[in-house]
Amino acid sequence: MGKAGTSRHDPVPIGEVAEPPFVRLPDPKRIFAERAERFAALASNHQLASYLLFLAALCEAQHQAQDGTPEPELPSADAIVRAREFGLPPLDRNRFAVSAEFDVIFDRLLALAAAIEKPAAAAAALARVAAADSAMRNAMIRNVLADSIPVDQLADHVYAAAAMQLHFARLTARLDDKQLVPVGDGACPACGAPPVSSMVVGWPRAHGTRFCACSLCGALWNYVRIKCTICASTAGVSYREIDGGPATVKAETCDSCKSYVKILYQLKDPALEPIADDVASLGLDLLVREAGYRRGGVNPFLLGY
Ligand SMILES: [Zn+2]
Ligand SMILES: [Zn+2]
Repeated sequence: MGKAGTSRHDPVPIGEVAEPPFVRLPDPKRIFAERAERFAALASNHQLASYLLFLAALCEAQHQAQDGTPEPELPSADAIVRAREFGLPPLDRNRFAVSAEFDVIFDRLLALAAAIEKPAAAAAALARVAAADSAMRNAMIRNVLADSIPVDQLADHVYAAAAMQLHFARLTARLDDKQLVPVGDGACPACGAPPVSSMVVGWPRAHGTRFCACSLCGALWNYVRIKCTICASTAGVSYREIDGGPATVKAETCDSCKSYVKILYQLKDPALEPIADDVASLGLDLLVREAGYRRGGVNPFLLGY
């Protein structure tokens, strides 16, 4: 493993007027298929190849589970307006409750996941989740939402987290992006979940701007650069990477809250994907943790480390 290169520098291109949208909503018909492709590509010559291929197949199952499955129900227009008035996200993940419609897509996902080639631990976990009663399902979902997954149950919670991502991406996709407002630092304006990572994009008219990627619903929200995505401090923010690495994935570390969130330079490599590239760059986590920072990004697919 290489040493960490540290810099205070996050070069921002000048000479171009960027007008980034505040939020880009996920397209559930593409997001999981594209993530599956990225996981599969990252698996080649990777130490974690078999795990990354398992996640590729799980994302493909998320994609397929949508076929013919009823769309989840959005909150009423009144409730959405009220949430905005209080500066709250329209889809309050903390008020999520298991419903019959959620069970349908969860069961569908589990059935598709049964056909995936997987390590023995993942197969045993799937059997436990498939046999879980509604109280156990609820407990798993609470753990995912609170980002407090017991370390010895990571494998079980991967399936519950995948079902939640699917449910929330389908809901968020149908919101009106023009009606979304900032709801606080480190919180998705659609569902309130924390970011998994952030991305500097190369989009037309938004070239070089940065977006936080929601760990739950997949929405992207605009966030200034060189500012901690967890505590919003602009002092003591620096960038660390693995020496000799591709320089497209760095850790943005914050000395105010001592946390870090990865930043992906998608403008240099359009294939980068907020969840897949986070899992595949586990080496960077180990390095930054050694330097005394704790992980700020949330990713239920990340192996315990
Ligand atoms: Zn979200
Ligand atoms: Zn901070």
